[in-house]
Amino acid sequence: AKAQGKNTFQFYYAELDKGTSRKMELDNALRKAIELNQLFLCYQPKIHLETGEVLGVEALLRWDHPSLGLIYPDEFISLAEETGLIVPIGQWVIQRALEQSKDWEEKGLGKINVAVNISVRQMQDDSFVNTVEQIVEDVGMEPSRLELEITESIMQDPERSVAILHKLKALNIMLAIDDFGTGYSSLSKLRYLPIDHIKIDKSFVDDIPDFTERGSIVKAIIEMGKSLNFTIIAEGIEKEEQIAFLVENSCIIGQGYHLSVPLTAEQIELFLKKQM
Ligand code: C2E
Ligand code: CA
Ligand code: CA
Ligand code: CA
Repeated sequence: AKAQGKNTFQFYYAELDKGTSRKMELDNALRKAIELNQLFLCYQPKIHLETGEVLGVEALLRWDHPSLGLIYPDEFISLAEETGLIVPIGQWVIQRALEQSKDWEEKGLGKINVAVNISVRQMQDDSFVNTVEQIVEDVGMEPSRLELEITESIMQDPERSVAILHKLKALNIMLAIDDFGTGYSSLSKLRYLPIDHIKIDKSFVDDIPDFTERGSIVKAIIEMGKSLNFTIIAEGIEKEEQIAFLVENSCIIGQGYHLSVPLTAEQIELFLKKQM
């Protein structure tokens, strides 16, 4: 039994080591990915649930790895957060999304608002607000065309976060709370924040239209959100009957595979042209 314990122990360290070097490999590759232009953005439309109109798009990061193929953010964002690499990556995302929106406008496709996901780690960087301001100015875009999607986890450091949000709002940048309902904050805690949109997390939308507990949670979020003057967006809509339920409960903006999967910039162009 003793020998076996030792083996397990050694095995554990071998595995741990493998894990560490795999992480380092991934980190190195990710650093190069920026230089080598392997990162790109897909865009998922935000749709008016009654008219079908495109109200904007959310930029979603992708990594086109030369040998591993397409890599999704869930596989590399947390590492980038850990190493701090999310800071330069995040700056690139904001810039690319704004340039893309400008490009669509120049092609006569209208003024498309772009939402970008922001990690808490990015907001911890002291120069975050200045950097965002600088990028918006450099690209030459009305700040209100940019929306930042942040999660409730920013409320772990409420004083600092509230100050940053007010600075961003003073620049006229749009702000959304992402994945709402999964964190620890309540809508009443958010009521004094300069937030424009609340995105109901997919896990709640999944249970519509069952009139189970969660169905009524969605109802309650919409009602309370409205009374606090937030616009509510439902994410992860996969079924027609979810749309009916949401519209009936006056949530009229949504995203999800049923409306459109995330599309490449070229595919978005076609999507917008079809609507014109
Ligand atoms: P998120 O911000 O909650 O984005 C929604 C995710 O759900 C996206 O996954 C999207 O493709 C997916 N999705 C949309 N509609 C549906 C649906 O109807 N059904 C299902 N099953 N999924 C749907 P994706 O693109 O893999 O992104 C995952 C997460 O990675 C995002 O979650 C966001 O938290 C993070 N992320 C993506 N891009 C960035 C970025 O540029 N910066 C940072 N910091 N995080 C990012
Ligand atoms: Ca998001
Ligand atoms: Ca979300
Ligand atoms: Ca999410």
